[in-house]
Amino acid sequence: MATLLLADHHEDHLGDATAKALTAAKQIGSPVHILVAGRAPQGAAAEAAKLDGVEKVLVASGEQYAHGLAEPFTDLLLGLIDGYDALVASSSTTGKNILPRVAAKLDMMQISDISKVEGPDTFERPVYAGNALQTVRSTDAKKIVTVRTAAFAAAGEGGSAAIEEVSAAGDPGLSSFVGEALTESDRPELGSAKIIVSGGRALGSAEKFKEVIEPLADQLGAAIGASRAAVDAGYAPNDQQVGQTGKVVAPQLYLALGISGAIQHLAGMKDSKVIVAINKDEEAPIFQVADYGLVADLFTAVPELKEELAKA
Ligand code: FAD
Repeated sequence: MATLLLADHHEDHLGDATAKALTAAKQIGSPVHILVAGRAPQGAAAEAAKLDGVEKVLVASGEQYAHGLAEPFTDLLLGLIDGYDALVASSSTTGKNILPRVAAKLDMMQISDISKVEGPDTFERPVYAGNALQTVRSTDAKKIVTVRTAAFAAAGEGGSAAIEEVSAAGDPGLSSFVGEALTESDRPELGSAKIIVSGGRALGSAEKFKEVIEPLADQLGAAIGASRAAVDAGYAPNDQQVGQTGKVVAPQLYLALGISGAIQHLAGMKDSKVIVAINKDEEAPIFQVADYGLVADLFTAVPELKEELAKA
């Protein structure tokens, strides 16, 4: 059962999401080929070729692939799909943009955000903000699947796949890229950070959020996250929101500071390896998922934590 994996990449580098989606792709069926499409994606293709378990890397170059527009990508994928039984991408903005269009054009079912592969046609996926798991069996001839990468370990390196250029499909002219506004930051990216320090409504103001959360994140080399209440109140920017309507993360360490642990927040972070919560309410639901919980006022506990970390 041949599987085509659409790579996530930033300019010349392969995103971490590809190595994780590859683990799912291999479980769905092999051989696995990776498609790397972009303006000049040769560097990312070379990185893809080194991933373990990849038979071939297909490269499509062209300006029409520079911004993940669904229309040109769909034409490219429809031209390649005949040789494959499954098409896989990560549940990133790009994957979620492209694969449903491919599925619709093929008149097949889109299977979104899988968290487990039970077999070549059977997948598990979270529903109701992660409160229930749905098992989906597809009878379609091809499986069109996006992968919740936080649920899969990254495939290792050690491969030496062949790299093959494929002809670009041209631009159907149905959409055009207008612009993007990116936040410049030296911090690790929230989606792939190993440590995340997250703040909630308890911080009380944007100034306090900055004053308490940022130095701790700096000390730990961590990304900064926030609850929706903190974002809605203007304490933290929108792109820091973790949860059902924010980013889904699974770092090695997640610190939840003054966050109650509403199900919509848990939906975005409960797969974190180690969860540490500081909350002054011992009944806060966050303690039900926390590996380490401290019932304390964060405004005294965080400075103490910083002091101890400085000694370590
Ligand atoms: P609160 O629930 O107000 O909790 C603040 C916590 O801080 C309390 O537990 C309190 O005991 C504690 N506290 C107060 N002062 C201190 C102190 N000094 N020291 C220590 N602890 C203190 N939320 C998300 O986070 N992400 C989402 O993606 C998201 N999506 C949503 C989607 C929908 C459709 C809906 C309806 C809601 C969504 N929400 C989401 C909102 C969610 O339901 C909660 O309202 C939100 O997560 C609460 O944020 P919070 O924990 O910061 O605030």
